[in-house]
Amino acid sequence: MANTTVELEALLMQRSLTDPQLQAAAAAAEDYRILPDATVIKIGGQSIIDRGRAAVYPLVDEIVAARQAHKLLIGTGAGTRARHLYSIAAGLNLPAGVLAQLGASVADQNAVMLGQLLAKHGISAVDGAGLAAVPLYLAEVNAVVFSGMPPYKLWIRPAAEGVIPPYRTDAGCFLLAEQFGCKAMIYVKDEDGLFTANPKTSKNATFIPKISVDEMKAKGLQDSILEFPVLDLLKSARHVHQVQIVNGLVPGNLTRALAGEHVGTLITAR
Ligand code: ADP
Ligand code: MG
Repeated sequence: MANTTVELEALLMQRSLTDPQLQAAAAAAEDYRILPDATVIKIGGQSIIDRGRAAVYPLVDEIVAARQAHKLLIGTGAGTRARHLYSIAAGLNLPAGVLAQLGASVADQNAVMLGQLLAKHGISAVDGAGLAAVPLYLAEVNAVVFSGMPPYKLWIRPAAEGVIPPYRTDAGCFLLAEQFGCKAMIYVKDEDGLFTANPKTSKNATFIPKISVDEMKAKGLQDSILEFPVLDLLKSARHVHQVQIVNGLVPGNLTRALAGEHVGTLITAR
């Protein structure tokens, strides 16, 4: 280990930071999982929170019960209000970085609402998922709510085309799960999982219980139920090698997924 550190330091002082040998030495350092017992769940914006009480109250009950047995990092999506803001801002020719800030403000609103619903159970919403206090919340009450948008704001890397921020709340929640080395990433949305086509518009769409990133791309499904950059993030991740998508409108699904059951769709890195 000491030798590794010395070698790595020598490389770091002398080489370009993207030198292949330097990168290999840096990657050889053992991976450390910061919160290996925690699961990140994302509560969809458009798919869940925008449906209001009918969709949100039962999930609140499930979360309150589930945190007896599980450590939960609960991220919020943005949804319809963000889409409205994007349409206005894009029409005003504003850039992706401004749209990213606007979208984040809506995910923030949803985190505020979810946090207030969970408040009487001692579960708080926290600002900024950099999250100095997160380990403390997890240790004390097994759960915490955060706003799902990654904090790139004005510094977001724009998409090749258009001004819609490519990294939104699906990506933000995934990155948190991966950086913390969490044990699972569960997306709570409003369909049973991935289908061969959007089930809202294609009545013949059939359900896909399990699929790899490459198979998803081969079937042309890379831009469907998850933001497409999540697939590449998943493929290159060190800790999180699959994500699960469950229908949060069906009571019990989230609980079953947390228990390790194969409900919904599993998307695997390979
Ligand atoms: P969120 O609320 O988390 O942002 P979205 O509404 O963005 O979730 O994504 C979920 C939606 O993706 C579903 O409601 C569904 O209409 C749509 N969708 C598009 N293509 C597919 C597909 N192939 N399989 C399942 N859902 C799909
Ligand atoms: Mg979405």
